[in-house]
Amino acid sequence: MEKILLKVNFQKFLEDLKANFKVIGPTRKGGGTATYSYACFDEIEDLDDLEMDYKFSMLSPKMVFFPDNQELYGYEKVGADIKLVDLRDKWGKDIAIVGLHPCDIAALLCLDRVFREEPFEEEYYNSKRQRTAIIGMTCTEPKGSCFCNLVGSGPDIEEGYDLLLTDIGDRFYFRSGTELGDRLISANYFMEPTEGDRDRRSEEVKRVAKELGPGLHVDTAQRVMEEKYDDSLWDEFSSKCVTCGSCNMVCPTCHCFSIVDKTNFDQTRGKRILVWDSCHFERFALMAGNINVRGEKESRFKHRLYDKYYYDPMRYGRIFCVGCGRCLEFCPSHIDIRDALNKLGGVK
Ligand code: SF4
Ligand code: SF4
Repeated sequence: MEKILLKVNFQKFLEDLKANFKVIGPTRKGGGTATYSYACFDEIEDLDDLEMDYKFSMLSPKMVFFPDNQELYGYEKVGADIKLVDLRDKWGKDIAIVGLHPCDIAALLCLDRVFREEPFEEEYYNSKRQRTAIIGMTCTEPKGSCFCNLVGSGPDIEEGYDLLLTDIGDRFYFRSGTELGDRLISANYFMEPTEGDRDRRSEEVKRVAKELGPGLHVDTAQRVMEEKYDDSLWDEFSSKCVTCGSCNMVCPTCHCFSIVDKTNFDQTRGKRILVWDSCHFERFALMAGNINVRGEKESRFKHRLYDKYYYDPMRYGRIFCVGCGRCLEFCPSHIDIRDALNKLGGVK
């Protein structure tokens, strides 16, 4: 189903949404008086704080479903017994995430392959996904670091959302992808789109695609990855890497984690916590017997690229990079994943 909403009625739509869902969206407003430099996905208490025209967010909505520092359960020694308490966040209300860009919608589809499929279905992640409405929005101004078009995750997207909005001037073009989406745009302030509205949407998506432009030769790079596993290029690529792990922390598809226990001094009480991990960290591949299968930073750098572009496509049937550009933006050594892939393919 497709509908049109005049921008003057957008506030009304958000108010109706807020009556039924906890709304999470891009905002620069933190707790207290904090104002972030980058938009963050956070609960929208006051609709004026919602920044629908944001260009870029540091973290993706992955943190809604797979948060860092996730308290799993608490434990306490009571006499000879151990008492366990489930500490996982219980959502009171269903959630609507608004304003996700197509790359972040595609990233959720990647995470779904990991956490929602047999034999490793994660019940908690799955129930949160089922209770969330995804209301995405196509981009209007891509950054130089964006390359969604080259990995097939933008600037338009056909799946993974309940609603997808496109800004076409004084109105939004709403495209529904599910029955829930159909219901959300059934109010009488929505209108049927005209041929002119459809043309404007398609022109808008084409304009953004043109701005993104070429720059990465994914197919070529993937083809040669097998034969270039031991290539000396890997030393060159990784020479500037300081193994900080920022690229993993901001990536919307990275999903490795560690489990840590925090206990009190006499070890009678504590919490078990899930924390995000990074394949760039030296201890990431450390195993029993003090054997580290990726002790060299070059092998860890290489592993991250192979995982996203080679192993995951074999394992899950899709590239686990959605071209969001966050790892380029937040790498302190300014390493650009596109340079590595292009040189690997011998096209630069
Ligand atoms: S590898 Fe980089 S560009 Fe690709 S999804 Fe992760 S953060 Fe985004
Ligand atoms: S952000 Fe840059 S320097 Fe840090 S681990 Fe990733 S590639 Fe290396």
